[in-house]
Amino acid sequence: MTTTPEDRRPLLIGIGGIHIECSTFTPHTTSYDDFDVRRGQNLLALFDFTGPGAHEWTEQVQWVPLVHARAVPGGPVRPAAYAALRDELLGRLDEAGPLDGLLLDLHGAMHVPGHDDIEAELAEAVAGAVGPGCLISCPTDLHGSITEELVANVDLITAHRLAPHEDEWITRERAARHLVQCLRTGQRPAKAWVRIPVLLPGEKTSTQVEPARGLYASLAETERVRGVLDAALWVGYAWADEPRSAAAVVVTGTDERTACAQARRLAERYWSLRDDFAFVGPTGTAQQAVAAAVSAVRRPFVISDSGDNPTAGGAGDVPHLLSVLLGDKDLAASGLSTVYAAVVDPEAVAACVSAGPGSTVDLYVGGRLDTVHGQPVRLTGRVDFACGPHSPGGAAAVVHTGGVRTVLTGERRPFHHIEDFTRLGLDPRTSDIVVVKIGYLEPELRALAADWMIALTPGGVDQDLPRLGHRRLRRPLHPFDPDMPAPDLTPRLIPARNAAAAPGAAR
Ligand SMILES: [Zn+2]
Repeated sequence: MTTTPEDRRPLLIGIGGIHIECSTFTPHTTSYDDFDVRRGQNLLALFDFTGPGAHEWTEQVQWVPLVHARAVPGGPVRPAAYAALRDELLGRLDEAGPLDGLLLDLHGAMHVPGHDDIEAELAEAVAGAVGPGCLISCPTDLHGSITEELVANVDLITAHRLAPHEDEWITRERAARHLVQCLRTGQRPAKAWVRIPVLLPGEKTSTQVEPARGLYASLAETERVRGVLDAALWVGYAWADEPRSAAAVVVTGTDERTACAQARRLAERYWSLRDDFAFVGPTGTAQQAVAAAVSAVRRPFVISDSGDNPTAGGAGDVPHLLSVLLGDKDLAASGLSTVYAAVVDPEAVAACVSAGPGSTVDLYVGGRLDTVHGQPVRLTGRVDFACGPHSPGGAAAVVHTGGVRTVLTGERRPFHHIEDFTRLGLDPRTSDIVVVKIGYLEPELRALAADWMIALTPGGVDQDLPRLGHRRLRRPLHPFDPDMPAPDLTPRLIPARNAAAAPGAAR
């Protein structure tokens, strides 16, 4: 890119957003307090690349922190919580005055009851607030369901290229870097968007295995094609019963024909591979997973309790797999050690805290947030560990029953790192069986697992999609309509939002 001294005046770039994915099949709802809401330096501290001297491309950029809210995936966001966050974002944009650019950090699968495409509504409101002279760049999660309306209200949009999302901050940085590039050069790229009528769960589209691995790896090559600035592919979010739920492609570029051609090529490739996507690991029922774990040769054997994965939007308190574990006679007779993480149940944790370590408790746990897919399960055992809400990681308890150590937590939270266990006095590395409410394994768990299985358990993020009973999806949609005709994958060309306002706009 070419720059002149005049172009090197400081750029004012705002950062803000609301980031969550919401299962509409989870009775749990997300409140304001579920969000980590950041402002000022606390917000900028999240975005590494905003630090002084971080990169050459950030020189002469003045970052303007607005408000950024992020929550663990969950049920729909309560309307009042969403309205408060939206109004604060719009209010801070108003206070900030004219900006050159805005990094609008969204997930792409937020749900607020009564709204079918809340992110498009938010982007439209934000675009109206900043006006056509401010360029908007939107990093998202590849599990978002991205509509033409959202794409039309931003100037640049991209998504993670790895699942698990080891590149989530690389994505945000790329979105910011491309924004700065466009501001410096006056480029106002167009976007070629295609909806692909395919809806698959993340556990069938992990980039740890083919065909997603090769498909996503190819995006970097697409980005190197002359006239292309960015290439993004979304698998969509399978657990939202919304018309928008589907895969999508956006290729952003200064050459409209090339952007369209590349978008069509990616969409056609995804469509042609639709039957090749398979679960990232062996699958079975809860009973089959426990039986496989008991008879396994290699340990630790990890079971993914996937239907109630809180990091995909499940409530985190469906105790279905726990009840199978506790009732399994072969497991009880085996002498194997098992860790189960976790069931959300603040009352049960409080009972363990008041009973104290070493005492015996007789509790009913879980089935309170998600009353559709689970009901409380009796848990009797010795309290090995208990801590209150002010401890690092929040309130938690460990109840020891035979060889099974059950983790109870006060809040919905992930168990993705070894430290999440060790801080509770548990060591998954020396356990025979480790059960986690998760889908595909995050890197530390993947390294830990000598063998593993995905248990297709009931819950708000059930991997068996037809079992959930979607009613509002736009049909036909693969795999709900196996005999559907080949779709029209012609891209929609969405011109630059503010092409007229741009000096030196691209042809
Ligand atoms: Zn995701």
